[in-house]
Amino acid sequence: MEFNPFAKKYRKGMKRVALLYPNKYVGMVSNVGLQNIYASINKIDDAICERFCLDVFDGLRSVETATPLNEFDLLLVSFQYEMDYFAAVEIAKKFKGLKIAGGPCVMENPEPIKKYFDAFFIGEVENSLADIVKAKSVEELSGIPGIYTKKEDRVKRVYVKIEKHIEKEIIADGAFGRCFLIEIGRGCIRKCRFCIVRQIYSPPRWRKIEDLPEKLDSEKIAIIAPSPTDHPRILDLIQNFAEKGYKISLSSVRADSLNDELAEILSKSTRSITLAPETASQKLLDVVNKGLTDEDIIEAAKVAENRFEKIKLYYLIGLPNETLEDVKKIVEQVMNVKKFVKKVEISVNPLVPKPHTPFQWLPFGGTSGVAELKKKANFIIKECKKSGIDVEVGNIKEFAIQTILSRGDESVSKIFEGGRFKEFDRFLNSIDVDSELPWDFIDHGYSKQRLKKEFFEVIENF
Ligand code: SF4
Repeated sequence: MEFNPFAKKYRKGMKRVALLYPNKYVGMVSNVGLQNIYASINKIDDAICERFCLDVFDGLRSVETATPLNEFDLLLVSFQYEMDYFAAVEIAKKFKGLKIAGGPCVMENPEPIKKYFDAFFIGEVENSLADIVKAKSVEELSGIPGIYTKKEDRVKRVYVKIEKHIEKEIIADGAFGRCFLIEIGRGCIRKCRFCIVRQIYSPPRWRKIEDLPEKLDSEKIAIIAPSPTDHPRILDLIQNFAEKGYKISLSSVRADSLNDELAEILSKSTRSITLAPETASQKLLDVVNKGLTDEDIIEAAKVAENRFEKIKLYYLIGLPNETLEDVKKIVEQVMNVKKFVKKVEISVNPLVPKPHTPFQWLPFGGTSGVAELKKKANFIIKECKKSGIDVEVGNIKEFAIQTILSRGDESVSKIFEGGRFKEFDRFLNSIDVDSELPWDFIDHGYSKQRLKKEFFEVIENF
């Protein structure tokens, strides 16, 4: 059962907004951005917002009142994963009102789903919601900062100042358990080269401790930010909630931030900890620019010893200039971690060379190709299984499709009309650095020239 402090009753004349999360309910209630949008629209006097997700009435009736989608005036869709396009496009095709898409995938490159929506929102939408909800046509949407109605030559991403946190939220069983989500920051101070956050959520912004809610309708909280342990006052912040008796989980922990104090507090709320080393050899650590070393991971495992029962590690394969020797280092690192924490789980995913990152020109599969990628994945599976380590390896075909949807142009929409993926294999290849890219029209505030420089540094120096 969910606790929903914003549920509203429809009155004649109200603008009805359908907010679609094209994946499961559990992900929808764990998404802090969606919580903000929902709360903000329902605070508008003559508007009402209801949510839609795939595992409740197949996304065709609202979660709150089972109202059919087509009784709503406006459809807002938030895309967190490219693979969600398939279900969302089918739902959007059935909707007769105004359709707007947003979320990180759209901020990267909306071209593959362009024909299914009337407009896109590029950026953080909070301050524009009132104007968007008021609009009755594409013409009325045009001119709202961040809105792309497909006619503009260029669109500048908008971002907001983060101030006071919302005091109330929907509380339900989500990805972090039944908890209140506390967003402590946006953007990231790091410059990992594979990561979209550094580009599309810049500049990094932290919420002040004084702006966080004091009394929460839940015993547990989840602290959310792209890299929460980089918050300048993370320990004070966590201690503050721990002293009030809340159980705490963190959306992620940087290995070099896991000290005794932090581990002690977290271990009171959870028996497992997740780290993202991404890769293990120093050569590739320099390539991805994560700013972590193998020693950092082992030190973190030592801190975790006797405090956590399980450690989960996230890795990427298919990085530029990666060899089987580099992948062997991953297995070595995992074995070394196991000396301190008995239960180790690893998740290994192929790199999706994302738009707007310095890796955007790379081929999918890394510089050694997809056949090698499969060999590397099989090697990790075999070696880890021998030592009783649970391994989860992302499906290579699925990640290739993700790459096509992420880097494709408008022609890729044929995939949603029964077209075969094979036809779009070209989007998996390396891209000429001087070519125009489908997403070049989005201004995220970085210089393409500097991105190229970073790309060449990686390719030439490692
Ligand atoms: S991977 Fe994490 S630490 Fe690196 S830039 Fe992205 S959010 Fe920041």
